[in-house]
Amino acid sequence: MKILCIGRNYAEHAKELNNPLPKEPVFFMKPDTALLKDGAPFYHPDFSSDIHHEIEIVLRVGKAGKHISPEHALKYIDGISVGVDFTARDLQQQCKEKGLPWEKAKAFDGSAPIGKFIPFTEAHQSSEIVFGLLVNGEIRQQGSSNDMIFNFQSIITYLSQFVTLKTGDLIYTGTPSGVSAVKIGDQLIGTLNGEQLLSFVVK
Ligand code: ZN
Repeated sequence: MKILCIGRNYAEHAKELNNPLPKEPVFFMKPDTALLKDGAPFYHPDFSSDIHHEIEIVLRVGKAGKHISPEHALKYIDGISVGVDFTARDLQQQCKEKGLPWEKAKAFDGSAPIGKFIPFTEAHQSSEIVFGLLVNGEIRQQGSSNDMIFNFQSIITYLSQFVTLKTGDLIYTGTPSGVSAVKIGDQLIGTLNGEQLLSFVVK
């Protein structure tokens, strides 16, 4: 399986990092070794002193497809959860300045903690989805699917022009504003529509 991630999908977050608003989705990938499941701890790597949390809605692909049209896009999704797209912001900044790819800052081991999946339903397609991240019990990030620049359909259609989606692939759909560094000992909790789906600690 593979992990596809959308960058700069919320205007307020693009602004906080001084990035222009994208005209088309920005995407990158993480390998399966980035996944952190079932509440496993995140071991803070020593190659970065500025690992940022990015809470995101995550979609799970339920069947393979390519060149998927917007009308059919949501039929390819069978689960939804929240995940954290950990980002070594210091390394990412160096990569950006040199015009280099971001993998070093985005694809490292454990950089994709993922919550428990719940079925993707009609309500998720038609109504607002609210989600958030608590760090040590305090709200750090709060987001709404209504604030996405590119919605689920356009993300799936766009990605599948370039990359065949396969069963079990995960799509991280971008983070709202409020990103900041984690430190050893932090407890992170991710929620979707008020339900706690993700919980782990930084070690
Ligand atoms: Zn992200």
